[in-house]
Amino acid sequence: MSTDPHGKTKLDPFGTTFIADYEKLYEEFGIQPFKPLLPQMPEPSAAMRRGVIFGHRDFERILQAVKNHEEYAVMSGIKPTGEFHLGTLQTAREVIYFQQHGAKAFYCIADVEAYEDNRIPFERSQKYAVGNVADLLALGFDPKKGFIYQQSKETRVKDLAILFGRGVTLATMKAIYGEHHMGLYLSALIQAGDILLPQTKEFGGPKPTVVPVGIDQDPHLRLTRDLAFKFRRKYKFISPSSTYHKLIKSLDGSPKMSKRDPMSYFTLEESPEVIAKKISNSFTGGRPTAEEQRRLGANPDVCPIYDLYLFHFFERDQDVAKLYNEECKGGKILCGENKQRLTKIVTDFVKEHQRKRRQNIDKAREILQID
Ligand code: SF4
Repeated sequence: MSTDPHGKTKLDPFGTTFIADYEKLYEEFGIQPFKPLLPQMPEPSAAMRRGVIFGHRDFERILQAVKNHEEYAVMSGIKPTGEFHLGTLQTAREVIYFQQHGAKAFYCIADVEAYEDNRIPFERSQKYAVGNVADLLALGFDPKKGFIYQQSKETRVKDLAILFGRGVTLATMKAIYGEHHMGLYLSALIQAGDILLPQTKEFGGPKPTVVPVGIDQDPHLRLTRDLAFKFRRKYKFISPSSTYHKLIKSLDGSPKMSKRDPMSYFTLEESPEVIAKKISNSFTGGRPTAEEQRRLGANPDVCPIYDLYLFHFFERDQDVAKLYNEECKGGKILCGENKQRLTKIVTDFVKEHQRKRRQNIDKAREILQID
């Protein structure tokens, strides 16, 4: 687990975050558990029902808006540093879920952060951005009910960042993010601009806004909520709400996928053959011999293959429960067999997704105004 020198969990959007115990985050960061809100959600998503979305800040405000059919927004995005992977797929599905449940949707291509954090020049991130937007459209995002933009081209977001610069000291930035070069602090202020953009006059003024993200992004939410409060008198900002999803395990069994190791994850653009190979080489929570596994069962809690089913590839909750309890813990399935079944599901999904993605490339170029 990543911790600071005092043993407190470190949530770092610019570094690596490993979480051993999600329960601890409720106490350490004042994040609220999502589960008690489930019965109030009219049609909870699979991620909500399965505890993949485990925490929130002020989500009651969104529930209220949904119940009263009031205007609200969803805002999230992607850092264009490569092709869609399983983490970005998770966030995209959450944005689309809220869009399909009445939210005005905002999706940001965080190219300033890609430059400041990952040194990706704008010319390169533009290429990724086109693919990323085509992925988003292929997954069901409706551009007519949403706004997709690049940070570097969106003046309103940059104007907000300039404004917010007066509301925060260097000491606060260091306390939230740790010691970094100025550009990263600037990109954090731009992210605050992204999160509050839906509440500006041009987009209809103050409104509840939910930001669905991985838990490692929480520092951006803390900064933005503080800025929304500081600038509330003039701009009437409503403090943004957030939901937090767990981080999917790496295929090597470590707690988070790493782009440094291409065998630890796969993207939606890779060939079915490569994906099949990566799944086949994946770590599992299996026993050393088939006989032991049948007799004692295996451990889904440490298994990335189980995570893949849980997060993305089993549609029905009863199939997830059956895999966890009967098949895996009950020793009814062996890891090789389980991997083969998953490979078929994943490669079928990826082939279909790639077909839809190709159909949406021109549309993505048009939205981003890139030739
Ligand atoms: S049986 Fe499946 S879920 Fe269980 S440890 Fe093996 S691969 Fe993982």
